[in-house]
Amino acid sequence: MTGIQHSESKSASLLRPWLDSPYATRLAEDREFALSLSKPLGCANPTFVLVEGEPRSKSRPTHQDNSKQNRQNAELRFQLQNSFPIPLTGNLAVACIFYRSSRKRIDIDNLFKEVFDAANGIAWHDDMQVTACTGMLKLDATYPRVAVLIGNVASSLDRAETVMKCQFCGKPFHFDRCDSGRRKFCSRICQSTSRRKLFSGIPPIRRYG
Ligand SMILES: [Zn+2]
Repeated sequence: MTGIQHSESKSASLLRPWLDSPYATRLAEDREFALSLSKPLGCANPTFVLVEGEPRSKSRPTHQDNSKQNRQNAELRFQLQNSFPIPLTGNLAVACIFYRSSRKRIDIDNLFKEVFDAANGIAWHDDMQVTACTGMLKLDATYPRVAVLIGNVASSLDRAETVMKCQFCGKPFHFDRCDSGRRKFCSRICQSTSRRKLFSGIPPIRRYG
């Protein structure tokens, strides 16, 4: 972890109790573990986020669980917003470690769904950018939490963003290669206007009289 002096005196560490908090200790450990999980995926430029609290599942929540789940989701979104000022583009890898406080039944796919829903529009533009994924579900009765690592990854299924020039108005626009290899216009308006011009040979807005 950056910013931590190992030669710190006892009084100095007392002044900064967060250094000894379960959050600070787990942060370093979890980051190392998430990095080791993401390594086989070929993940580059990883960003790590640790969210305190019970990892919650997306499926069939009761009324009470629903409010708890919303809090967890809001916290996850808040942390992601801090770490990702703008959404990442291109192919991404995600590594998650879910620490649950009990052995109560839970399905890992629903836990992933919760993370993906929170990250959509914040860490990335679209879920389909994630082309590599790994994770673990573990037990920590005293300190339940969710560790999330997101980074770039190379893939034969290319989700790279491309800049094109609109063939109608000339404005540059971004699109994901998977949208359509044939996209030529920045907007539906430019597309339909250009089509009308092409087929009728008349200007898009006709003035009578
Ligand atoms: Zn245009």
